[in-house]
Amino acid sequence: MNPTAMLCLGIESTAHTVGAGVVDGRCNVLSNEMETYVPPEGGIHPREAANHHAERVVPVIRAAVEKAGARFSELELVAFSQGPGLGPCLRTGATAARSLAVSLGIPIIGVNHCIAHLEIGRGTTAARDPVLLYVSGGNTQVIAYMASRYRIFGETLDIGVGNLLDKFGRGMGLAFPAGPKIEKSAATNTDPYLPLPYSVKGMDISFSGILTAAEVKRREGAPASALCYSMQETVFAMLVEVTERAMAHAEKDEVLLGGGVAANSRLRQMLGRMAADRGAKMFVPASRLCVDNGAMIAWLGLLMHRSGVRMPLSKTKICQRFRTDEVEVAWRN
Ligand code: AMP
Ligand code: MG
Repeated sequence: MNPTAMLCLGIESTAHTVGAGVVDGRCNVLSNEMETYVPPEGGIHPREAANHHAERVVPVIRAAVEKAGARFSELELVAFSQGPGLGPCLRTGATAARSLAVSLGIPIIGVNHCIAHLEIGRGTTAARDPVLLYVSGGNTQVIAYMASRYRIFGETLDIGVGNLLDKFGRGMGLAFPAGPKIEKSAATNTDPYLPLPYSVKGMDISFSGILTAAEVKRREGAPASALCYSMQETVFAMLVEVTERAMAHAEKDEVLLGGGVAANSRLRQMLGRMAADRGAKMFVPASRLCVDNGAMIAWLGLLMHRSGVRMPLSKTKICQRFRTDEVEVAWRN
């Protein structure tokens, strides 16, 4: 069998998005279907998101296979997000992956969601050995390869940056996802910067104090656009600072963005400026490959399978707190 022709279907279900994508052994993304659960109000409830995923996972898988121009019988591998993520959501994706693998009689592989964000960037951009700034709803990590593992150089000590933006937005009456609306409002601002706590602790960052401080300022009558602008400037500066230190420490001259917040043009601008100042390059995958998606899961599954990783069904249990550095990276040298 020609390994570059091998087709893998990947299933993503760590949080609010259920996705399925088909990728071949050259990292050609043949399809990448997804549906996102939007709570009627408030934050995401894991059980309700899981019910949404359970209802939508089969149609999403069917659409992914059809759009790839493939038949189910041509799939040779099924990959799924094993963690980290919300338990009920992860279980829905894992169950779908197991049923598919058993009914088609093909191997199954559970992958680390955060590493998938990094590998799809390496697979679809010119980045070869980047530091990943992974900024999504639930996760915020700075990750780089060193000595056979993807190491976490810095991370949030509390909530993910997307979650911060969504919570802050909710207080201002902005529906989920608030990130894009905050970006728009910030772009219209003409008021001066409002100081907010800048919480970088060593290589780690924390967001909850900023949320509280911004909410106090909002109740005191600060204009929404000035708050959105100040929030973005503060948290993006924190993220860029930690990323730059990781690049210096790990001696990397590439930086890759991943996660839903990577769509933000001000973050791209600030990160790109930092990279240019140090003679480094910034890479951003296509938007549908930055958000939570099945194609990136499929690609990491293929890389792992090719490097010899095999997973009996008994090893496909989900892992809500799956750490990026738990995985032995056998597919890189
Ligand atoms: P993910 O968890 O990776 O699927 O990404 C979803 C998160 O990305 C949500 O918290 C959104 O608010 C956030 N997001 C999406 N677009 C933007 C944007 N343009 N600026 C900031 N945050 C964004
Ligand atoms: Mg993600």
